Formats: sequence, structure tokens, C-alpha cells
Amino acid sequence: MDAAHVDNDLVNVLFTEEQILERIGELAQEIETDYDGKELLIVGILRGAVMVMADMARAFTRHVEMDWMAVSSYGSGTKSSGVVRILKDLDTDISGRHVVIVDEIIDTGLTLSWLSSNLSSRNPASVQICTLLRKPEALQMPVDVKYVGWDIPNEFVVGYGLDYRERYRNLRDIGTLAPHVYS
Ligand code: 5GP
Ligand code: MG
Repeated sequence: MDAAHVDNDLVNVLFTEEQILERIGELAQEIETDYDGKELLIVGILRGAVMVMADMARAFTRHVEMDWMAVSSYGSGTKSSGVVRILKDLDTDISGRHVVIVDEIIDTGLTLSWLSSNLSSRNPASVQICTLLRKPEALQMPVDVKYVGWDIPNEFVVGYGLDYRERYRNLRDIGTLAPHVYS
């Protein structure tokens, strides 16, 4: 579905499907150049990163392996606490592998910072992070995000994998959720 199908639930559309696909294509090209001649495993973080993974993997003009992790981060309401629990671990042994973690958004950075050190402890050849969106708060975390689609304002966004109570994930565009939806 697109913005027209969710009536006035969005305050604005930040990125259209077309813009998203174009940016993901650029990121894929950047990654492809950086990992030239190396085998690459991309790890998607369920469930939000499903769309990014699907489009990014297909944007590559080379072979790439895909694996998935699901984590839950304990926290109050919409803020994560940094305490992360693995709900679904990798099926792949990543020792000696080049890994790029793919996520849709980094907010406080707690989840990705934990994940990155967790994967780094498994003796991979390298671990980098790619996120489609980054919020300003994440810049204050000591998490090194190598590939970023866009920096966005500190607003709650939905669409393209990003949900509000499990809805809007299948929205093609990314937009800011209108306050009337929360209440
Ligand atoms: P953090 O970086 O704070 O550890 O958490 C990142 C996670 O919080 C994301 O993977 C996502 O699930 C959720 N999140 C953070 N900001 C937003 C947002 O604006 N919209 C949605 N739908 N989820 C968000
Ligand atoms: Mg996520």
C-alpha cells in the first residue's frame, strides 16, 4: 500500500518508494566496491529490515549470502534499554566471514551497538553496519555505522518495514506518523 491507502495517518511522506530504491541502489554499489573480491554475508535484523534486505540484496550485481537475526530489546515503551535478548540467532557460522549488519533505523544505537559487539566476538573477518535511516540521538552512541541512507529528524516514522503496533510495515513509502494515530 502507499500513502493514499492510509488516509491521513501520515503528517508527511519523508521518502517515496522511488527515492528509497534509488538510495538503496547507491548503498549497494558502495558496499559492492568496498567488498570487491571478498565473500559477503549480509545479516538482516527482523522484522524491520525485511524490505531493506530484499531490495538491497537484489540491487547487488554480485553474489551475496543472507542471514537473519531477531532480537528483543527490553525497555519502557518506545525507548530501548540496551539490554538485548536474541530471539533468533544466525544459522551461519560467521568466523572468518565479512559481515554487514543491515537494519532499517538506528535511534539510540543501543540495539546495533550490542549486536555489533556480539557478532564481533564470533571471530568474523569484519563487521560493519548499514542502516537506511539514522536519528540524531544515534550520533551520540559509540557505534560506528559505516553505511547510512539518510539522517532524519527525531520523529516517529513508519513504512517500508517500520511499524506502529505491527501496522504500516507494508507501506511503500516512509512517513511521519500523525499524532492522532497514537491517541
Ligand atoms: P535503538 O537504536 O534505539 O536501539 O532501536 C532501534 C529500533 O527501535 C529500531 O530497530 C526500531 O525497531 C525502533 N525504532 C526507533 N525509531 C523508530 C521510529 O521512528 N519508527 C519505528 N517504527 N520504529 C523505530
Ligand atoms: Mg530494527
